[in-house]
Amino acid sequence: MIDFHCHLDLYPNPALIARKSADEEIYVLSVTTTPKAWQRSSAIAVGYTRIRTALGFHPELAHERKNELSLFRKLLPKTRYIGEIGLDGSPGQKAYFKDQLFVFSEILNASANAGGRVMSIHSRQAVDQVLDELSKNPGAGLPILHWFTGNKTQLKRAIDMGCWFSVGPGMLFNAKSKKLVTEIPHNRILPETDGPFTTIRGKTATPIDSWYVIERLAFICQKSVDTFVQQIKTNLIEIGELAFR
Ligand code: MN
Repeated sequence: MIDFHCHLDLYPNPALIARKSADEEIYVLSVTTTPKAWQRSSAIAVGYTRIRTALGFHPELAHERKNELSLFRKLLPKTRYIGEIGLDGSPGQKAYFKDQLFVFSEILNASANAGGRVMSIHSRQAVDQVLDELSKNPGAGLPILHWFTGNKTQLKRAIDMGCWFSVGPGMLFNAKSKKLVTEIPHNRILPETDGPFTTIRGKTATPIDSWYVIERLAFICQKSVDTFVQQIKTNLIEIGELAFR
């Protein structure tokens, strides 16, 4: 199975989670929140063929870490995946929106200059602004919107722009999200847990819970689990090909 957005480096014992995920043959996109964290986080993945470490710059940290943009650019040639990046327009974050926009657009620019990357993108209460920035930087790569919480119009706009979606526990239970999930093309969906920031069945989610995510997804989309698993595997292969195009 696949967990396409997990903060491996933020568990109390990342090495153990990496080992358990490997034992279960789970593919993991290990996202990071600052350029500085990337080197340490990619060390966790050493020896594991199914873990990729994405170079990130979380919007909530943009205002206090702007000086790490040069490190971001320096590390960019080392990976085909970037994330977690994006914008956050929620009340607690809005005060720094200008800084967020600056960092996000610099990253998209750098990514485009480097030939494009697969990107795991945060868009809480800022879907339109994220899509605006993406349309200004069409060469930035393949956008995968993580934990999408926009409306139907925004979803349609994102689909028309070629976005993919990683869907996790936050989208599998409330009626509005479930309805949105049914409208995402199946060939653009990947499962995620966003662990350790989510819980599944009362416990901190780990990549192994991506099996549970896929079962819920199949149920919501009224497909058999087998059919959905096959689709997700095909999607992962396509992502891999896009990452190395
Ligand atoms: Mn996250």
